[in-house]
Amino acid sequence: MIQELLQIKPTDSFQDMRDRMGAFLGMNTPIPENAMRRAVQDQDYANNLITCRNAPGFLEVLLTDPENEQYALNTVQDNEISNVELIQKAAGAFMRWGKAGFSVVDDTTLEIRENACMGCENLSKPEKKLQKLVTSKPSEQIGKRISDCVCKLCGCSLSKKIRIPTESCPARHPENSNLNRWGEPALKTG
Ligand code: SF4
Repeated sequence: MIQELLQIKPTDSFQDMRDRMGAFLGMNTPIPENAMRRAVQDQDYANNLITCRNAPGFLEVLLTDPENEQYALNTVQDNEISNVELIQKAAGAFMRWGKAGFSVVDDTTLEIRENACMGCENLSKPEKKLQKLVTSKPSEQIGKRISDCVCKLCGCSLSKKIRIPTESCPARHPENSNLNRWGEPALKTG
């Protein structure tokens, strides 16, 4: 379970990390190299992987997404250096996600976040194929009302984003610059 990811340490190999991520997602094989690199560097992609855990059809789409090729490295030397950096980064990222327990926010927070997104000018329909595939049918149910929408600022699929405790709205609240549009403390920038 989650321990497979939390056991990643800066001293581990890139192969160890791929093996554990594969096991965490319910696969019998390590996840592809480029998908692993992308998962560490692209949190929205990592969130989609976690959301599709134990769902082989959706995982297949994510793991073979052509955009993963952008994360390929060209030389052996680049690979060695970058993989060390990547593992260090992954150890920190997985630990943060682990602290959140890959849990979801409570219903009240979910409704507040969703209401904010529904009234926001940055709400939009998905354009990328991958975003379309990981969304689901619209509904009147709390947490599903923005099922087919993405955020124009961060590109995230909002039905997933609003559920994850460690996620944050990227826009400042129009009436209080210390908060984001969800009414939560804004992340400091610069
Ligand atoms: S995440 Fe924030 S900026 Fe994006 S649509 Fe929701 S409220 Fe608007």
